[in-house]
Amino acid sequence: MRFTDEQQRFAAAIRDFCTDECNTLQQRDVLTDGGTLANSPQILAKLADLGWLGVSIPEQYGGAGAGMVEECLFLEATSRGLAPITAYSTGLTAAQTYLRHGTEQQKQEILGGLCRGRLEAIALSEPGAGSDLGSARLKAVRDGDGYVLNGQKTWTSAAHVADHLLVLTRTSVEDDKHDGLTLLVVPTDATGLEIRAIETMEAHTVNDLFFTDVHVPAADVVGQVGRAWNHLMRGLSVERLIIAAMSVGAAQRSLDDVLEYVRQREQFGRPISSFQAVRHKLADLATDIACSRSFVYEVAERIDAGEEEQLAREGSMAKLKCTEVAKQTALEAMQLMGGYGYAREYGMEGQVRKALAPPIYGGTNEIQREIIGKGLHL
Ligand SMILES: Cc1cc2nc3c(=O)[nH]c(=O)nc-3n(C[C@H](O)[C@H](O)[C@H](O)COP(=O)(O)OP(=O)(O)OC[C@H]3O[C@@H](n4cnc5c(N)ncnc54)[C@H](O)[C@@H]3O)c2cc1C
Repeated sequence: MRFTDEQQRFAAAIRDFCTDECNTLQQRDVLTDGGTLANSPQILAKLADLGWLGVSIPEQYGGAGAGMVEECLFLEATSRGLAPITAYSTGLTAAQTYLRHGTEQQKQEILGGLCRGRLEAIALSEPGAGSDLGSARLKAVRDGDGYVLNGQKTWTSAAHVADHLLVLTRTSVEDDKHDGLTLLVVPTDATGLEIRAIETMEAHTVNDLFFTDVHVPAADVVGQVGRAWNHLMRGLSVERLIIAAMSVGAAQRSLDDVLEYVRQREQFGRPISSFQAVRHKLADLATDIACSRSFVYEVAERIDAGEEEQLAREGSMAKLKCTEVAKQTALEAMQLMGGYGYAREYGMEGQVRKALAPPIYGGTNEIQREIIGKGLHL
């Protein structure tokens, strides 16, 4: 697609911001306490002051009222710029459900907070319910004018830094397991809620959650009781596009960095970029990224044109392709940098670690292939 002048200026301004604030490993280490934090409150606050957080959120809830094209420009540029704001995308994903099904008060508080740099989390996965999310069991039992929650969630990104959790609960057992599920907003400081970090290959991003008699007022139901599955399914194309746009940015960053490296690294008396095997590999990666980017903005444009509900398959295709391209690019780039690709100082090992998770979360890429396959009537 051809971007408007305003969209191009917006993307360029975000690129400049990232270059100034977090381009070097030293800058990022200061912002993230040596790489141990996934989010920098300082960067989030600056982005909020610039009015760039929640660019696609309606103005009445504190956003800029633009569309998914602008949101994807933001996600791509901040991901390419390695801005430490990983949890913003989780909040943005949660925002889609609040926007569609939240009460006015939930929208004002939660979407408004997101635009001011606050973070939000979504607790869907459970130890026994990953890809098969419909078998979620965390119990919410009606009690007076509210619900009492007992059970466990796992893999909840950003729960330790978020204001609220959007929790998938089981309010009744029905013939179809997808019925009887209900979404509730739970503040992260609720009595009876324990948040425990899961150690991974990355900075602290994910958590186990333990609910013991957590009381939630009935006013904190999001959407209709028993209809959570339907609510969650409706927004999937946007959620998958969010991951896809970030992945395009991550892939582009890996390519930017490896191009710089192969131009200056000499072996056998010449830059390694002069070897045809190296050039061809980079040409393939650049082509994959260009195609992925085009598809992301095509889907974004169609969502902005009101076609969102017809784009479930395209959302899956974008998530599948872009996350695989980001992973492939980071791995190939590391190989092209030889031993230096493996060293923290050169940054590519971080890109590799980051690129391994998106094919897993937001519905694994195998599940995306299943959805695409169904669209092909297989
Ligand atoms: C970094 C990270 C962040 C996350 N953030 C969140 C979050 O914020 N909130 C949240 O709720 N969850 C989150 N998750 C959880 C994530 O959504 C799940 O890990 C994912 O849905 C897969 O579930 P699982 O891990 O239980 O794997 P399983 O479902 O057990 O799958 C294991 C393997 O089997 C394959 N598989 C399963 N079923 C099929 C099938 N029908 N056909 C073919 N292959 C199949 C899967 O693709 C996978 O390769 C996060 C995960 C990670 C790693």
